[in-house]
Amino acid sequence: MRKIFQLLCLLIIITSLNACSSDKDQDNGVNSDELSYTLNTGASANELLSDSRFSKIIIEAIYVDGFKPEQASLNNLLSFLNDRLHKPGGISIIEREIPAQALGTYSITEVRQLEDNIRTQFSVDDTLAIFVLFTDDSNENDSGNSVILGTAYRNTSLVMFQKTIEELSGGLNQPSRVNVETAVYEHEFAHIMGLVNIGTALQSDHEDDTNSAHCNVDGCLMNAQLETFNPLNMMNIMGSGIAQLDAQCIADLQANGGK
Ligand SMILES: [Zn+2]
Ligand SMILES: [Zn+2]
Repeated sequence: MRKIFQLLCLLIIITSLNACSSDKDQDNGVNSDELSYTLNTGASANELLSDSRFSKIIIEAIYVDGFKPEQASLNNLLSFLNDRLHKPGGISIIEREIPAQALGTYSITEVRQLEDNIRTQFSVDDTLAIFVLFTDDSNENDSGNSVILGTAYRNTSLVMFQKTIEELSGGLNQPSRVNVETAVYEHEFAHIMGLVNIGTALQSDHEDDTNSAHCNVDGCLMNAQLETFNPLNMMNIMGSGIAQLDAQCIADLQANGGK
C-alpha cells in the first residue's frame, strides 16, 4: 500500500512538472528543451565546448554597483572562449548592474540564492546561457594568507570575488588589474568546461593529487595557485603576464568537443 502511495506521489510530481514545461513551451512559441542551470560544475562541459546542442553562448554578467570588471578583461575572456569553444553563432556578453547587497562576506549558499533571484538568461533552443556574478565583498572562508578569487559553483554559474581581486591588483608591487581579472575569469570558465577531470576526461595524467579539479603543471592556467593563494605570492604567480592553458589541459578539451 505504501509503495502504491509513493508511486502515486511520484506520478503527481511528474505530471505537474510536465504541465510546467508545456506552459513554458507555449509561452515561447517554440518546442524548447531547457538545460537545467542547477547541475554540478562540469556537468555541461560538452554542451559548452561543442556545437552539437548549442551553437551560441550568452553570458549574463551581473556586477554589484561599483564593482564593474574592466572592459579589457572581458575582451580577453571573449577571445579565450572563442579560441576553445565551437560556437559558430557567436559568444556575447550582456552586462547589468545591481545595487549593493549588504550581505557582508559571501557563502556559496548565499551566492546561489542571489542567482536564483536575479538570473534572467537560461539555456534554450540554440543558446547556452552562463551567469557570472561580480561581488562587492569577499568569500566568507578567506583567512589572512589564503583568499578565494572566484568559484565555479554550478554547471553554468560563476562568481568572481571582485572586491578581493581589486584589493590584490593594480597597486604598488602588485600585478595589473586586467592581468588578475583575466586569469581568474578564464580559470573559472575552464572549470565549467570540465577542467580538470570534472566532466572532461583526462587524456593524460596531470590532475593535482592534493588539489582536485586542478592541473599539476607549474604555470598552467588551471594550477590551483591561481584561485586560492597567499596574496604575498601574487607577483610570482601573475607578475609575468596572464597564465595560459598548458598542452595537456587543451588536449582534454579537444577530446570533449572543444577546439
Ligand atoms: Zn580552480
Ligand atoms: Zn594544465
